[in-house]
Amino acid sequence: MLGWVKVLRKFTRVGAAMDVSPPENRVIISEMSTQENRLVDQNSKPEDRLDNALRPRKLVDLIGQERVKENLGILIAAAQQRSEPVDHVLFYGPPGLGKTTLAHIVANEMGVNIKVSSGPAIERPGDLAAILTNLRAGDIMFIDEVHRLGRVVEEVLYPAMEDYALDIVIGKGPSARSIRLKLPHFTVIGATTRLALVTAPLRSRFGVVYHLDFYELPAMKAIVERAAGVFQVQVEPGGVEEIASRGRGTPRVALRLLRRVRDYAQVRGDGVITRQISEQALDLLNVDSLGLDEMDRRVLETVINKYNGGPVGLNTISASISEEADTIMDVVEPYLLQLGFLERSSQGRIATRLAYEHLRVTFPVEDQPKLL
Ligand code: ADP
Repeated sequence: MLGWVKVLRKFTRVGAAMDVSPPENRVIISEMSTQENRLVDQNSKPEDRLDNALRPRKLVDLIGQERVKENLGILIAAAQQRSEPVDHVLFYGPPGLGKTTLAHIVANEMGVNIKVSSGPAIERPGDLAAILTNLRAGDIMFIDEVHRLGRVVEEVLYPAMEDYALDIVIGKGPSARSIRLKLPHFTVIGATTRLALVTAPLRSRFGVVYHLDFYELPAMKAIVERAAGVFQVQVEPGGVEEIASRGRGTPRVALRLLRRVRDYAQVRGDGVITRQISEQALDLLNVDSLGLDEMDRRVLETVINKYNGGPVGLNTISASISEEADTIMDVVEPYLLQLGFLERSSQGRIATRLAYEHLRVTFPVEDQPKLL
């Protein structure tokens, strides 16, 4: 197989080394704005690598996401009973909710290897071929940000997922010829924050699609408590609740807040995380009682103060606060929608009464924004 990869690399002119590093290690260039400095940013940051040790390894250890957990359990058990690889799986939902964690859990439960890559890292068909030809039967290929795969790569992926075959064109012009390589039966697990951007043909190749939703408070509390145990930091129930409720329903954010509160407790207190210590630490870090930070407030204030509560288009909001529309759509808006602070209409975003109340702005009774 390795010989073939060399030939493929030569003929498909693949120069770039394939990036199979975990997403934590990659810098996403488009986020070099204030988003990068956000404590409540749901995207992975280098410091979050510490959390890898906290990743639950078995399905039973996974907290929350009950529906996904149950369905995935059935999928895995059925595949094991038939001694077959699991079907191709697509996870979608906001960043930091556990898509990568779940992919590793599936590999663990199935007792197979997992190769990690991402849509933007697989630049050419040769990159994909290099990964696929190194898989063994049953292995999992995890593709993060699967909506960012290029069209040409996607077209090579279709027969690979469907027929376990790799069609590669070698050479150019009249001497070009196509060869078909047989691949072992493997599983693709895709993850995306934007289901709408996954092309219909790719989406149809996934046997199952699971939606991950923000975590409820009890699950968030359990995650914080478990992590505090691993960090060996003493935490009181009030402290757990404070961190969990400011964690935006997102384990990655809650774990990051826990680390900052732990520092604060150590330096300003006696190391114990009490409710008061958590409140002080998180207030100092400008994360409010619901986990909103300055960027969330800027978005809401723009809709409320500049556009009279809306409706206002996403691009207008983006231009007003000099923040990328993609960032707002991926990591600011989903949580504000979840809180019921924003509503989406065909004409744009509308701030709700709850948002006015949270920001302590009087709701305009006369001039209520209309949804239609
Ligand atoms: P995603 O791939 O959706 O961006 P990850 O799987 O990387 O999210 O999860 C982010 C972090 O949150 C991981 O470090 C993991 O430890 C933690 N995490 C996610 N889901 C859970 C969960 N259900 N229970 C405990 N920890 C979790």
